[in-house]
Amino acid sequence: MRIGIYGGSFNPIHKGHTQLAASIVAQGLVDELWLMVSPLNPLKSGEVSDIAEYEHRLRMAELATQRIEGVKVSDFERSLPLPSYTITTLGELKKAYPQHEFVLVIGADNWESFPRWYHADEIIEKFQILIYRRPGCEFDETFLPASVKVVDTPLYDVSSTQIRESVKKGRMMRRWLDEKVARYIKKNGLYR
Ligand code: ATP
Repeated sequence: MRIGIYGGSFNPIHKGHTQLAASIVAQGLVDELWLMVSPLNPLKSGEVSDIAEYEHRLRMAELATQRIEGVKVSDFERSLPLPSYTITTLGELKKAYPQHEFVLVIGADNWESFPRWYHADEIIEKFQILIYRRPGCEFDETFLPASVKVVDTPLYDVSSTQIRESVKKGRMMRRWLDEKVARYIKKNGLYR
């Protein structure tokens, strides 16, 4: 099978994440999309202080994707060394599941910072990358490496940061949250 790997903190998961994931699968770009919940993002470790515990982020991702065909949640990075570097994750996935082909799925915002990723050239050399557009993130599409493909998906103008801030202010942005995730945040007193 062709498996898309869609990594992130998912702190918390929102409808931008889930609808994007559903769209990638519905377009037949991959057979399955695995949401790779990262224990710690190497580029975000110094910047986000209100990161919910791994178990909470994982559980919320599961709740939000339960009914989305072809979209799965993976805790594969749990057993890998920290910080979780994408090249390591992809390499280990390939070893663990030799029957599958793994494709990296990233937003245009991530493509901007991609040159700073650990062993970025090696990722491009060994794996296919699907880039989807993000609001306000322009990039030069003329000279992309052969392994990189731009895909068209709807734009969702929301971020986990906005969700966390809304919770902090006592006005949770429910429009962008799965109902079960909203309840989970409330019940567990996250992001307050
Ligand atoms: P934060 O606001 O905490 O930085 P985030 O909303 O950007 O979080 P991440 O967990 O960092 O979410 O993102 C995981 C992946 O989801 C990244 O590849 C990111 O590009 C993508 N992503 C984030 N927000 C959206 C959105 N609204 N639509 C589509 N993809 C998104």
